[in-house]
Amino acid sequence: MLPNELDDLYKDVILDHYRSPRNTKRLEDAHVKAHGLNPFCGDEVDLQLLLNGDGTIKEVGFQGRGCSISQASASMLTEELKSKTLEEAEALRKLFRRMMQGEKLTDAELEFLGSLEVLEGVRKFPVRIKCALLAFSTLEDGITEYKRKKRS
Ligand code: ZN
Repeated sequence: MLPNELDDLYKDVILDHYRSPRNTKRLEDAHVKAHGLNPFCGDEVDLQLLLNGDGTIKEVGFQGRGCSISQASASMLTEELKSKTLEEAEALRKLFRRMMQGEKLTDAELEFLGSLEVLEGVRKFPVRIKCALLAFSTLEDGITEYKRKKRS
C-alpha cells in the first residue's frame, strides 16, 4: 500500500492519518465545497470549509476514499487549515506544491507548512505526488468556485 522505501517517520504519520482520518464530519452548510478525483489511482476527496464572519476558516470537513497517501494528506491538510484565511489557505497550497516539485523552502516557509512537511518523503515516488496533491487541488477548486460565486 505504501512504498516500502518510505522512511519510518513518514510512514507512521501517514498511516496514523490514514487509519484515523481527522475532521471527517460532512459540513452541510459549508461556504466552500469541492470534490476532487485522481483518476490515476482512483482517489477521491470531498472537502468543505465553514467560514467565520471575518473570513477565517472555522471548520473543515473531508470525506474520501483511495490510497493512504491521498487520504492522509487530506486529513493532515484539514488540521492545518483551521483559523487561516482563504488567502493563507491558498498560500499553503502553493507552498506545498512547490515542496512537492522539489523546491527548497526557507525555514519560515517550512514552519508555515507545519505537519505537512512530513509528506515531502512522498516526493521520492513521482507517481504518488498526484495522490499527495489531490486534497490541495480540491481546495483550490473550492476556493476558486467560492470567489466566482461571491463576485456574481
Ligand atoms: Zn493515490
